[in-house]
Amino acid sequence: MNTEQTVSAAVAGLQLGGTFTFDELLRSVQDRRHRRLRVIELADLDTHDGLCALWLATETDDLVLHARTDSTLHRQQFILHELAHMILGHCDGDDCTVDEALLPNIPPYTRGRLLRRQDLDSKTEIAAESLADRLAASIRGSVFAESRYSEVFG
Ligand SMILES: [Zn+2]
Repeated sequence: MNTEQTVSAAVAGLQLGGTFTFDELLRSVQDRRHRRLRVIELADLDTHDGLCALWLATETDDLVLHARTDSTLHRQQFILHELAHMILGHCDGDDCTVDEALLPNIPPYTRGRLLRRQDLDSKTEIAAESLADRLAASIRGSVFAESRYSEVFG
């Protein structure tokens, strides 16, 4: 499948219809993976190397950690990108290992597997980014900032 087909199949597989809220999307991803999903803002995430968000899989939870930003749209895009990796099944193998040096400020219990943008080949990134864009289009107009899945660690 090309990227367009992969993304279309992933959106159809969500069975959320043409428009949905951010929380409906989070709930759908959580239910499909049978794991708790938490979105966590890290005030001091080091973004100097382009790291804006990351997906961390522990034994029981999927964590999306993202950098602090004043832009709701940027924040949404960071999170949707990581959700797209989950939806597309990236990093479900054993080849995603955590580099603990990256995460000096994250409590040890949250450390598990980690996915970083720059660790993946470009085809995978392009698919995730284009799925994130499709999801953003479906969410547009719904309230994002009030998500009950969000937590802030600072
Ligand atoms: Zn990525």
